Amino acid sequence: MLDLEPVIGLEIHAQLLTRTKLFCACPTEFGAEPNSNICEVCSGQPGALPRMNGKALELAATAGLALGSRVNSRSLFSRKNYFYPDLPNGFQTSQLDPPICEGGSLSFRTADGGTKSARLNRVHLEDDAGKCVHDEKRGVSLVDLNRAGTPLIEIVTEPDLSSSYEAMEFLKKLHALLVFLKVTEGRMEEGEFRCDVNISLRPRGSSQLGVRGEIKNLNSFKFVGQAIEYEIVRQTALYERGEPVLQETLHFDSRKGETRSLRSKEEAHDYRYFPQPDLPPVVVPEATIEALRRGLPESPERARERLVALGLREAQIALLLERVEFLEYFDQALAQGGESGKIASLMEELFLPQCQKEGISPLEAPMKPAFLASLAKILASGAVGRRKIQELFGELYLSGRDPAALLEAKGASQISDEGALREIVAGVIAKFPQDARKYAAGEEKVLSFLVGKVMKESGGRANPQKAAELLKAELAPRGV
Ligand SMILES: [Zn+2]
Repeated sequence: MLDLEPVIGLEIHAQLLTRTKLFCACPTEFGAEPNSNICEVCSGQPGALPRMNGKALELAATAGLALGSRVNSRSLFSRKNYFYPDLPNGFQTSQLDPPICEGGSLSFRTADGGTKSARLNRVHLEDDAGKCVHDEKRGVSLVDLNRAGTPLIEIVTEPDLSSSYEAMEFLKKLHALLVFLKVTEGRMEEGEFRCDVNISLRPRGSSQLGVRGEIKNLNSFKFVGQAIEYEIVRQTALYERGEPVLQETLHFDSRKGETRSLRSKEEAHDYRYFPQPDLPPVVVPEATIEALRRGLPESPERARERLVALGLREAQIALLLERVEFLEYFDQALAQGGESGKIASLMEELFLPQCQKEGISPLEAPMKPAFLASLAKILASGAVGRRKIQELFGELYLSGRDPAALLEAKGASQISDEGALREIVAGVIAKFPQDARKYAAGEEKVLSFLVGKVMKESGGRANPQKAAELLKAELAPRGV
């Protein structure tokens, strides 16, 4: 039997997080009424002239810089010719040579716990096509051009991956990085991050590349894994029977878990690329590239090391690394003083869910990082209990003021004053003498019952830890 190894390369399309399309001012929002977000440019009207979206350019360069690519100060748009009903121009505006970014790499974790790096060939800009909607009931096909002209980057790797596991790990890492950098929203179910897989087999140890199949448009990590596994089995069987593998474009049917042929694969020259005469060369001055490089946030790897050193829990770290603005907010709160663990847990349990509910970025929230830091300090001091903070959080969040004053005004501060607490504790012991005796005789579980009574007597304002301490001191055998 032949010992074959898979050779895998990926082409990833990520929708850039811009408000408007690549060459016109139409919004990029998802789910709008069909053909409501279109104009003469993105619907391919004769004579309409495209104009480059500067934000898209910035995001593409940012992605390239974060991936260690070289950003070309001058790149070109080309027309890539297709005929599709949802492509009104008759071509896609893409970049062939030179693209905005070249080279780079991304490392990821391998199955045995090691690290591997895959090289990148390029990152280029291009626009998306519209969508055909097939209405089988009415027997018609409809075209929705809302997506036409949406800005994408295509990231092309070298064929450096050798298993479905590696491909999935690479993609997860890339997705997390681009979402963290706010280059893309990365919503895979809406097609904002999707992937083509090129896969061939060769005798292990050989340096030649075999004939490859290209599986198109996979929009989940799981499907990428399944499609690769299926192709390895299919191509291995062809090799074993001595039949040729055909260069073709494949579709992965996720319900059946198998690939099927769409068409024999085109070569670049089949598209008859030529320079797009309606657009000038894309120029990114060196100074802009430098400014973008300086503006790059700390890499997620380095941030992770820092958060681990702070002693945060894994779930908190993963949450803070989801978006650069989560980490920024955390760092700003931390800079105000306050315990990192308390800040992270307030963000995780109360603050970020509230922001998400309102659909706003943490840095735009009325609760400024300094206020959250102040709340973390109050929590750490025990002046106000966690439950009380939970109860009042909505109000504290919206107030746009330092929570200390508001909590004070609400009379929410805990009774930590020993004299006042001692009185309540004495009252509880007098009211429940039998339970007090049981505890004094060694029945430790009665303590929580007594603490509960102290909490009740104090209207929930007693500091439970202090109350427990006082009860213990009060009921401990004397004279020991
Ligand atoms: Zn438009």
